[in-house]
Amino acid sequence: MKNNNPIRMCIACRKRESQKLLIRLQLVDKRIVTYQGFGRSTYLCLECIRNDKRMNGFAKRFKIEREELSTILKELEKNGQS
Ligand SMILES: [Zn+2]
Repeated sequence: MKNNNPIRMCIACRKRESQKLLIRLQLVDKRIVTYQGFGRSTYLCLECIRNDKRMNGFAKRFKIEREELSTILKELEKNGQS
């Protein structure tokens, strides 16, 4: 069987999910940014990004403005996953 369905973990709720169903982000100097196309990536599940309370906590944890996080997530959701 080909391994074309890698499993990744959502860093907010730690649920394991198919990579295809996760939003890809990157941590740079412990800050969340959109994925740069190289380096280590990190993931968030759709359930989490639609959960406002969870995203508030997430924003605080990664020292990102809540509005900035929302913008990033909206963009990523719109563009689909890479
Ligand atoms: Zn999650």
